[in-house]
Amino acid sequence: MDDERRLIQHKRSNANAMKILIVEDELRTADYLSKGLTEQGCAVDMAHNGIDGQHLALTHDYDVIVLDVMLPGQDGFAVLRELRAVKQTPVIMLTARDRVEDRIKGLHEGADDYLIKPFSFLELLARLQALNRRGRKQEPMQLRIADLQIDLLARKAFRGSTRIDLTAKEFALLAVLARRQGEILSKTAIAELVWDMNFDSNTNVVEVAIKRLRDKIDVPFAPKLLHTIRGMGYVMELRDMQGEGQGL
Ligand code: CA
Repeated sequence: MDDERRLIQHKRSNANAMKILIVEDELRTADYLSKGLTEQGCAVDMAHNGIDGQHLALTHDYDVIVLDVMLPGQDGFAVLRELRAVKQTPVIMLTARDRVEDRIKGLHEGADDYLIKPFSFLELLARLQALNRRGRKQEPMQLRIADLQIDLLARKAFRGSTRIDLTAKEFALLAVLARRQGEILSKTAIAELVWDMNFDSNTNVVEVAIKRLRDKIDVPFAPKLLHTIRGMGYVMELRDMQGEGQGL
């Protein structure tokens, strides 16, 4: 209900109005930004730690996310990584003046822009508007491989007309593979992209998750799309020659 109302308000207000998530643990800064953006006609949600921020970022459809780097719970980089596994919502990161490496790391991991604290409100607003315009053009909302259809915003997956029930991690795993269709992903790469962890010694977690995903999206259906490349990893693609079973 709340979201619907916000969306209607969002559509009615002026062209610059955006739906924005602010993830910032400094309450005074968060309130100041929220008030300023609301006055500009934006719909603003706030989270004061990384856990809540990630939850909102993944479950809602924002035009832009303002993401502080240093956060309790989990930091902004972790939130960004989880988000990028499933969607391309534009992100502007807030970094401290003396942390040059944070800016580089943020951009490297998929942030679209950054601002150094302290910054002027008008500069933030200008950057948000620029990202919003850019984001509209870039965001693929749906991925499709053969009859597998993935709605990244609604976080739903279908084979043909059959809706596939997936857990949040399974969906993240599917999105990572589908976004890079045709590309072989190692277990280590998958572990980093989906779990934000290094499984140098134990990649069993990935194997188990792949099996669960395959049981849901591939086993009951044809053609098979999720293939195991022995000694290398996994790839999601439609192959010309469709054998029985699980690929190579
Ligand atoms: Ca902070």
